[in-house]
Amino acid sequence: MNEMGTIQSVHAATTGYDVREVRKDFPILQRSIYNHPLVYLDNAASAQKPKAVIDAMTKLMTEEYANVHRGVHWLSSAATKRFEAARGTVQRFINAREDREIVFTRGATEAINLVASSWGRTNLSEGDEVVISWLEHHANIVPWQMLRQEKGIVLKVVPVADDGSLMLEEYEKLLSERTKLVAMTHMSNSIGIVTPIAEVIRLAHDRGIPVLVDACQAVTHLGVDVQALDCDFLVFSSHKLYGPTGIGVLYGKAELLSEMPPYQGGGDMISSVTFEETVYKGIPQRFEAGTPAIIEAVGFAAAIDYVNALGLENIRAHERDLLDYATQRLGEVDGLRIIGTSAEKASIVSFTLGDIHPHDIGTIVDRAGVAVRAGHHCAQPLMERFGVAGTARASFGLYNTREEVDALASALQRAQEIFG
Ligand code: PMP
Repeated sequence: MNEMGTIQSVHAATTGYDVREVRKDFPILQRSIYNHPLVYLDNAASAQKPKAVIDAMTKLMTEEYANVHRGVHWLSSAATKRFEAARGTVQRFINAREDREIVFTRGATEAINLVASSWGRTNLSEGDEVVISWLEHHANIVPWQMLRQEKGIVLKVVPVADDGSLMLEEYEKLLSERTKLVAMTHMSNSIGIVTPIAEVIRLAHDRGIPVLVDACQAVTHLGVDVQALDCDFLVFSSHKLYGPTGIGVLYGKAELLSEMPPYQGGGDMISSVTFEETVYKGIPQRFEAGTPAIIEAVGFAAAIDYVNALGLENIRAHERDLLDYATQRLGEVDGLRIIGTSAEKASIVSFTLGDIHPHDIGTIVDRAGVAVRAGHHCAQPLMERFGVAGTARASFGLYNTREEVDALASALQRAQEIFG
């Protein structure tokens, strides 16, 4: 057995985490691409699905599917139970106080738009300030710019240091009498940097400012506890957490959500409708107009159960090992520059390779069966901050291995030889 195998089996023996067994749960990982075994390193964009998720969705459609909340018949009530049980699973996963603090949305993007449209339109007026950071995904920039257009609010952006870390002192300086909201990522999707979010929240709360946390990456790679963080809003998507697309979460403190007007109108969010007047339901239903993503909610809950069964601690340790190993192995490739070198990071290595265009890097490694992302990763301002148009990004999930990191490093070495 080689050194790598030894380290992995020692890890498995001490934690009970056996990545070889885990991989068997993901049917897609058995396939090959261009006659090479698939090496899937695009988890920050979307993660692959375990059989438990696929089976839970199929079972619902095969045995217990109907629309929820409205029907009195057996199937509708069975489907409603499963849908509402999924809400409870999410609640426990992020340790929310009550299940009504969990609003199902189409994803993190819709969740942020919901807060900007509902809370933002109600509470913000001209000259009010929203503080974001240079690390944000476009999903946590554009909704606030749209509000700026409509309301004349001011966007303040916390800078990052050369190692990609958030400049906390600069953040503190940006907080002013006019700051009405801080909306910040817990972990950058483009360079993997983890922000000191607990401190960010504390400093905002000291001044009575609420905080929205974009936990799209953090929820998968770090785990979050909304009561420990004491955040006011938190958003994430199911599909990066090994669940299906089409569903995500807005967590909001009950007292905040209760004061917010609906985001969209329609069926399922009302208590009564006449042509003169409509009375809305309470939370969370008032934010869930129309038929929700029922099948996806059940798949989402199955994904959370799956992650819980493996143990977030074990997943974190496994991914930390992969990150450290990848940082070392990729560092050995001639001309490779890692963007985001702070120690406060997780599961993502973003890099450039000499003058080779990121798309060319992506295409060459793809021919070796290695899937990485190339481009600006929906974070164009951050790319600008580091003077690059884009990067290639390898992002690790709970099923990746050190051998896969080796496959990436070899493919990059080849790209370097061809283009360098
Ligand atoms: N924020 C972060 C940090 C993300 O990684 C993503 C997805 N790349 C989003 C927001 C948007 O998520 P979605 O596209 O699932 O709505």
